[in-house]
Amino acid sequence: MAKIIDGKAVSAAVKDALKARMPELEARYGRRPCLCVIIVGENPASKVYVRNKVRAAQYVGMESRLVELPERTSEAELLSLIAELNADSGVDGVLVQLPLPRHIDAQKVIEAIAVEKDVDGFHVLNAGSLWVGRPCSVPCTPKGILRLIDSTGVGIEGKTAVVIGRSNIVGKPVAKLLLDRNATVVLAHSRTPDLKSFTLQADILVVAVGKERVVTGDMVKPGAVVIDVGMNRRADGSLTGDVEFETASQAAGWITPVPGGVGPMTIAMLMENTVDCFLAARVSA
Ligand code: NAP
Repeated sequence: MAKIIDGKAVSAAVKDALKARMPELEARYGRRPCLCVIIVGENPASKVYVRNKVRAAQYVGMESRLVELPERTSEAELLSLIAELNADSGVDGVLVQLPLPRHIDAQKVIEAIAVEKDVDGFHVLNAGSLWVGRPCSVPCTPKGILRLIDSTGVGIEGKTAVVIGRSNIVGKPVAKLLLDRNATVVLAHSRTPDLKSFTLQADILVVAVGKERVVTGDMVKPGAVVIDVGMNRRADGSLTGDVEFETASQAAGWITPVPGGVGPMTIAMLMENTVDCFLAARVSA
């Protein structure tokens, strides 16, 4: 039976460590780091995510601003707000909650955020820097996934890692981070034939698809570390991952639950990225 990777506990430790640093940062630099979160429209899931991000910032003791804009907000209005925040020396991190309403070009918006305030790490310059090995904001979910794997004590170097899902925000950056830690990485996707033949080789299996039961117990190598990134809402309102927990936990050595695994880490890494942007601006000034 697999041991549970407790994302709530690991994320709480990260947030508590940041919280403990706040008085020193304030004393040294005259103010605390500040995260600005922008939400456009009324997407209920987005509202929950945004609320959790602001709550985490408050818990950690950083400054936070929440800008709630109506659905009818134009792309030009949003870009103008971002330009203001880019120029505001009191703001260290700018996050625009996705998805955006259809009339707004999300990529254009992401690339309007100053690269040094891009706490999500989605800007093309941050994505490029990650791939060529330069310092950058690393996307929060992939960064959190690596921390969860590290929390198990299972080494990454020399292991075979299979990542299912090749999105720009999860799959691709996770694969690069695992590669950087000297895993041998397979990046699988919807066109991968015979997925099971790959997953059965995985010492580390990261599943970021967004479909229930993409991975079942018979697909898991005995003893593997299984990270379930999926967040699927069932008809009864409950949240479930991409991995069939009941069967996969019989085979795996370690496994993340959903909820309580990757989700809390994403928010903790956002807090860490905001502090890193705050510090980077002061070191480079
Ligand atoms: P995405 O952009 O929709 O990408 C999904 C990926 O899964 C694609 O690469 C797709 O392949 C692949 N895929 C689809 N069906 C597949 C199948 N049957 N077998 C193998 N691969 C398949 O999703 P995402 O943004 O990466 O998110 C993935 C999941 O993680 C979602 O449930 C999302 O809600 C969750 N998530 C959670 C957090 C968190 O903080 N916990 C953060 C981000 C995302 P193709 O490229 O070939 O289409």
